[in-house]
Amino acid sequence: MPVTNAPTTISLQCIRCQNSYPADEVRYLCDCGGLLDVWHDLEALRPQVSRGLFDGRLSGAPGPRVAPTVNSGVWRYREIILPATVGNIVSRPEGNTPLYEHPRLSKWVGSACLFLKHEGENPTGSFKDRGMTVGVTQAKLMDARAVACASTGNTSASLAAYAALAGIPALIFIPAGKIAAGKLAQALAYGAHTFQIQGDFDDAMQLVRQVSNEMGIYLLNSLNPFRLEGQKSIVFEILQGFHWQPPDWIVLPAGNLGNTAAFGKALYEAQQLGLVDRIPRIAAVQAKGASPFYQSYQNNFAQRTTVKAQTVATAIRIGNPVSYERAIRTLGWTNGLVTAVSDEEIMDAKAMIDGVGIGCEPASAASVAGIRQLIANGVIKPEETVIGILTGNLLKDPTATVDYHTGAWPDAQFANRPVQVAAEIEAVREMLAQRL
Ligand SMILES: *Cc1c(COP(=O)(O)O)cnc(C)c1O
Ligand SMILES: [Zn+2]
Repeated sequence: MPVTNAPTTISLQCIRCQNSYPADEVRYLCDCGGLLDVWHDLEALRPQVSRGLFDGRLSGAPGPRVAPTVNSGVWRYREIILPATVGNIVSRPEGNTPLYEHPRLSKWVGSACLFLKHEGENPTGSFKDRGMTVGVTQAKLMDARAVACASTGNTSASLAAYAALAGIPALIFIPAGKIAAGKLAQALAYGAHTFQIQGDFDDAMQLVRQVSNEMGIYLLNSLNPFRLEGQKSIVFEILQGFHWQPPDWIVLPAGNLGNTAAFGKALYEAQQLGLVDRIPRIAAVQAKGASPFYQSYQNNFAQRTTVKAQTVATAIRIGNPVSYERAIRTLGWTNGLVTAVSDEEIMDAKAMIDGVGIGCEPASAASVAGIRQLIANGVIKPEETVIGILTGNLLKDPTATVDYHTGAWPDAQFANRPVQVAAEIEAVREMLAQRL
């Protein structure tokens, strides 16, 4: 199905000094050092987009050769993400993730109206796919000879898959020995050149940035503003799923703050474009051992805090978040707030989410632990509609799950220990009689 390119309405704009650059220039920072946004000309877009336009695209039935503009939960909103032509789009397709509701979980959290949007049910098992489909499409539009990132997890798994689909070489720089088995397996399986740097994450990041500039390699770390454009579609899907009647709260885990940044921008633009007339509040949840954004928030952002991060939730184990300034803007746009939860709270919340049959990786459970805390503190009212974002799949980090259930957490509330049984029928009968 041919799709005509929308008029060029995007540019790169510095969030600090508002200096702007052409969207097809390879650059990740402003000359002043500020982060860049992909900025849409909202005035020009207003007459082009409407609820009806996006609702009209919901009917695409699965079948052979369906265009991503029809079946992707990202490209459905292409006018306000990246106006690419269909032939250039690199898509699995991604998005269209479910909204779960479960009475036992809602009761435990204390909410009468809790929904979980499961981004771990994206093609490679995390929301990173929504950003990567846009980032790799942009790389293709710019004729990049290779794409690269430094990552300890889901970003590299996603980059490897989308680069493979596009036939572009992927270069992944990882700190040696510091990547979860499931995520490393994906990078290798999808054929990425995987370099184990004898150093830490910051060394890997520094090196990848230097070679990218020297060798014409397109960088797809979270500095890259095109990825954030794709991640906005999580919010667009939520709004559309609620028939453009926004929920009261959207609560998400926060590490590098890319998603926190993308959510605020999505809500701001949706309101400016008349898709919704009010916007939900955002609550960003950090792990206590990796809470630089929470600590800065507590002193009203008077100074920027960085920490040496430590948490079981490796996907949010970030001490110096890249999208810090973009995320502060989100709080302003959405009357948002930041909180932090302990690793014990994260793992107990995860066990509850897993135990009702939904399941997620540790970082994802920070959102549910955060909602529970905010309801207990009276910040979120039990009758308010709350959407928690589950960012990653249960299978990403099996080690954390098995450790929890086999005794690594002395205060674990919901450990489900495996039972050793002799290979004899009497022993099995006795054991079952005790359990049922
Ligand atoms: C990347 C990631 C996060 C953190 O998102 P940021 O945009 O870095 O704040 C949380 N959970 C999972 C599973 C992730 O992959
Ligand atoms: Zn600038």
